[in-house]
Amino acid sequence: MKAVVVEKGESRPTVRDVPDPTPEPGEALLRTLRVGIDGTDHEVIRGNHGGYPPGDDYQILGHEAVAVVEDANGTELEEGELVVPTVRRPPGETNDYFERDEPDMAPEGLYVERGIVGAHGYMSEFFTSPSEFLVPVPDEFAEHGFLVEPISNTEKALEHAFAARSAFEWDPTSALVLGNGPLGLLTLAALQTPSLPFERTYCLGRRDRPDPTIDVVERLGSTYVDSRETPVDEIPGAHEAVDFVYEATGYAKHAFETVDALAPNGVGALLGIPNDWEFEVDGGRLHRELVLENKALFGSVNSNVRQFEAAKKRFTEFPDWFADALVTGVYSLSEVDAAFETGDDVIKTAVEFDTP
Ligand code: NAP
Ligand code: BGC
Ligand code: ZN
Repeated sequence: MKAVVVEKGESRPTVRDVPDPTPEPGEALLRTLRVGIDGTDHEVIRGNHGGYPPGDDYQILGHEAVAVVEDANGTELEEGELVVPTVRRPPGETNDYFERDEPDMAPEGLYVERGIVGAHGYMSEFFTSPSEFLVPVPDEFAEHGFLVEPISNTEKALEHAFAARSAFEWDPTSALVLGNGPLGLLTLAALQTPSLPFERTYCLGRRDRPDPTIDVVERLGSTYVDSRETPVDEIPGAHEAVDFVYEATGYAKHAFETVDALAPNGVGALLGIPNDWEFEVDGGRLHRELVLENKALFGSVNSNVRQFEAAKKRFTEFPDWFADALVTGVYSLSEVDAAFETGDDVIKTAVEFDTP
């Protein structure tokens, strides 16, 4: 079968023939429909994040998929059913994190990540997976179901943010998303849904108008903030100090500037995955600010099945136009180069292998 891979020593994806997968007992065989591309895939291709499956000189890319059950292979799934796979798998033997259905909390070494860390991803005509890591989705998700995985990353961060403020009466009304990439915009859409309490939202970028991401920000009813004019730590003066910050730039200074952007009792979630970068910060001031204003700052990665379920529900609350505006391109296997092209007119793309 055909797969989109990055070969060792290469820094661009290519299509190659790989062996057809055969499901083991407890695994289903899936026929891939679409696989989304995000900032992490570009990091994997550049060799800055993740790693090859042991013993292989190539890695099949892709961790955001929607697929059809081709062969249920005796599992509880039904052939023809649509599913979205989670990302983490045990590294051989299972462990407590997986036993507790909390693989997202496992430390390095106790998981692999499909398409990212030590395991092949989903960008192939077929793939296999234990059924416990396959989340059934409705037939309407065939087109955009690959967005469930990134939304689930946000569901985890929201769950942890609210949990971190659960010891007192926290009544958040404002939120700031740092980053107008796909993760930032998906999160902005999530923060605008009626089941969350945020009345005013802001989204930070560094683009000039006209720009498709700024159009999405404003269409969502949010305020665009240009970091070149208003750095993160100046947002309280220019707009307001916010109750919740969600960092999705991967720009390391933002981790620290988040403390200044937060209102007293606020919480900041850091999701970006930066490269090493040494710079000076006034650690004493930030430390004091965190303590004296009861602020919280945490990191969040990956997501578990419960958070995938929350993401399914969240996705149905998004405005109808949103997914079409976010997904600026869907490409066939013969157009893989175009699928991985970046630019200001590209927000999110996907590779399409098949239709239901
Ligand atoms: P992305 O496409 O790289 O988006 C990052 C966005 O941030 C870009 O639009 C970029 O603007 C903007 N940005 C960067 N520095 C900025 C600055 N100084 N001021 C204003 N805007 C700035 O990546 P993504 O797919 O949306 O993901 C966001 C980050 O989260 C990445 O680091 C990714 O690796 C990480 N991630 C983490 C998780 C997790 O579970 N923790 C999950 C998914 C992704 P331009 O486009 O104009 O340069
Ligand atoms: C994926 C997560 C993964 C993280 C770190 C993200 O892009 O969506 O599932 O845990 O990268 O590798
Ligand atoms: Zn991702």
